[in-house]
Amino acid sequence: MDLDACRHYYSEEVRLCAGVKTPALVDAFARVPREKFLGPGPWEVASAEIRGLSAVGAIQMSYTPVDDPRHLYHNVVVVLDKAGDINNGQPSALARWIDALDLKPGARAYHLGCGVGYYTAIMAEIVGPDGSVVGSEVNPDLAARAQENLSCYPNVTVVAGDGATFDPDACDAMLINAGVTHPNPLWLDRLREDGRLVVPLTMATTPKLGIGVMVKIAREGGGFSAQIVTSLAIYSCTSARDAQREPLLKAAMASGALMKMKWVRRDAHEQSNTCVLHGPDVCLSSAEIG
Ligand SMILES: [Zn+2]
Repeated sequence: MDLDACRHYYSEEVRLCAGVKTPALVDAFARVPREKFLGPGPWEVASAEIRGLSAVGAIQMSYTPVDDPRHLYHNVVVVLDKAGDINNGQPSALARWIDALDLKPGARAYHLGCGVGYYTAIMAEIVGPDGSVVGSEVNPDLAARAQENLSCYPNVTVVAGDGATFDPDACDAMLINAGVTHPNPLWLDRLREDGRLVVPLTMATTPKLGIGVMVKIAREGGGFSAQIVTSLAIYSCTSARDAQREPLLKAAMASGALMKMKWVRRDAHEQSNTCVLHGPDVCLSSAEIG
């Protein structure tokens, strides 16, 4: 089987594993050459199914060395920096999150934590030449690799630096690819009406990793609805974590209250029993959307 055929089969596998609803996303998985983003082989791959257990220190990830690029076209993570716990993420997980963005041709998207740019390229394929994607990456080595890897995409810009303080301007979609304690008010401000923010709310389990839920926040009807997309373990965005909210988020996860969130409140209000994660600027609420 040649690489094109492998990519096509892989895109079908991702479609079925992730329940992808966006046909252009499946097409992008069939087109973008993953091996070109990962640098020369050999590589090390692993299944992310045990990622949650790994993030709480219960088990070590088990990696398999591969030297044939065809082996990258499976539902596996690929090591970018083993000591730093940095991988090119699991295709089925990223597919679910990108699908939740509901990207359309011409859309403007932000990808925080773009790594080496593979999934940024997939987003760029969907928004097309009339759209644009801005990626940010705090790790300077990864940012340099993403800039090089994505140089053939005129609709992509990569910014090296802290994505938590970067202003992406008005966007139709945002994918936050690192764990935070709460949605950054700036991201909500920059989300256009009908825009989607996909953001992982995690509790830190190690200095670098956390476990939690990926949440889709949609700006609609003058408010921000919130729904859980997947559970996950992910690298933390340490600069976008609020120490005061860490214990509140942990308690909301342990009690199951986090699963009941329906919307993000931004109005000034007293804390009440419908506040799942109350804060002065954003509050995750389980009240009926009002
Ligand atoms: Zn509140």
